[in-house]
Amino acid sequence: MYRIAVLPGDGIGVEIVPQAIKSLQAIGDKFGHQFNFSEALIGGAAYDAVGHPLPEATLDLCRSSDAVLLGAIGGPKWDDLPVHLRPEAGALLPIRKELALYANLRLCTLFPGLLHASTLKKDVLQDVDILVIRELTGGLYFGDKSREKTPDGGEKATDVLTYSTLEIERIVRFAYQAARQRSKRLCSVDKANVLESSRLWRETVQKLALEYPDVETVHMYVDNCSMQLIRNPRQFDVIVTENMFGDILTDEASMLTGSIGMLPSASIGGEVGLYEPAHGSAPDIAGQNKANPLATILSAAMLLRYSLQLEKEARVVEEAVRKVLQEDYRTPDLAEPGKKVLGTAEMGDLVAKTIREI
Ligand code: NAD
Repeated sequence: MYRIAVLPGDGIGVEIVPQAIKSLQAIGDKFGHQFNFSEALIGGAAYDAVGHPLPEATLDLCRSSDAVLLGAIGGPKWDDLPVHLRPEAGALLPIRKELALYANLRLCTLFPGLLHASTLKKDVLQDVDILVIRELTGGLYFGDKSREKTPDGGEKATDVLTYSTLEIERIVRFAYQAARQRSKRLCSVDKANVLESSRLWRETVQKLALEYPDVETVHMYVDNCSMQLIRNPRQFDVIVTENMFGDILTDEASMLTGSIGMLPSASIGGEVGLYEPAHGSAPDIAGQNKANPLATILSAAMLLRYSLQLEKEARVVEEAVRKVLQEDYRTPDLAEPGKKVLGTAEMGDLVAKTIREI
C-alpha cells in the first residue's frame, strides 16, 4: 500500500488533480497496488480555511506519505496579501525547503500526435525530448529580500542571489547521473560572464566534469540557451541550471511540447518527492472544465517512477497519454481542426480507461 498526499490547491488545481488520481487508481487495479490518498489544504484555499497557505497539518501529512501530488496554487484573490501569506511565497517555496526538494526535473517530450500543436515549425521539433534539471532550494528565490527608502523619495529593493559549492555540487552530480542514463550529454546553463554565483557554478561544473569523462559537458549562457531552445532544441538532452534560470527556461521549453499543459515535473532530493505540473493555477480558465490534465497525469507517472520505483506502471501511464493523443483527442489548449475536443474530466476518464485497456 502506498500513501499519497494529495494537495489540489487553487484554480485549475482542483480540476486536474482528480484526473491524475483516476489514472493512479486504474494503475492500482491493473497491477494490484493499493494507493491510499489523503487530501490536505495548500495555497489560497488553505489561507481562506485556516489563515495560512501552508498549514503545519499539510506538512505533517506530506512527511508521513510516500509521495505528494500537488495541483497548483495562487490566484488574483490572494495577490495583495503580505508576502509571507501569499500562496507562492508562503507555501510553494517553503514546502520545497521543508521537504528538502533541491532537484526539480521537468520533462519536455514532444508526443508524436502533437507535432503540429506547437507554434514552432515541425522540422525543428521532431523527436524533441529534453530533461531540464533545475536547482530548487537556492538562488534568488530564497535569498534575503529587503526594501529601503532612498533620499530622492523613492525606494530601493534588493534580492540576494547566493549559491554555495555544496548546493551546486549536489544538483550537478544528480544531473550527471541522469545524463548517464540518457544520451550522455549535459548542458550546464549559467550567466558566468556577469554573475559571481554563475562563475562559481561554472567552476564547480568544470571540476565535476573530470569525474564524468563519459558524459559530454557543454556550458551555455542563459540568454544563448533561451535562443537555442527555439532555434535548435534537438541539440539538448539534459540541461542543468540554477533556480530562476530553470523556472524561465522550462516555461519557454513547454511550448516545444505544444502547451504548458503538457509539462510534468518531479521535485526530489529529500525523503518524500513532490509531483506537480509545471504550470500555475490558470485563473483565466479555472472552473470551466477546460484545463489540460495531461501534465498532472504525466507527473503521476513520474511519481510512480521516482518515488515508488514502479517503472513499468509509469510507462503504462505515459503510453496511455501517447495513445489518446495519437487517437486525436485534445483539450481546448491543443484543439486543431479535425481533432476531438474533450473537457478536463472527460480527458481524465479517457486516459484512465486507456490504462485499463493497454
Ligand atoms: P499559469 O501557468 O497559471 O497560466 C499561464 C497561461 O497558461 C494561462 O493562459 C493559462 O490558461 C494557461 N494554462 C496553464 N495551465 C494550463 C493547462 N493545464 N491547460 C490549459 N491551459 C493552461 O501562469 P500565470 O497565469 O502566470 O499564473 C497564475 C497563478 O498561478 C499565479 O497566481 C501564479 O503565481 C501561480 N503559479 C503557481 C505555480 C504553482 O503552483 N507551481 C506555478 C506558476 C504560477
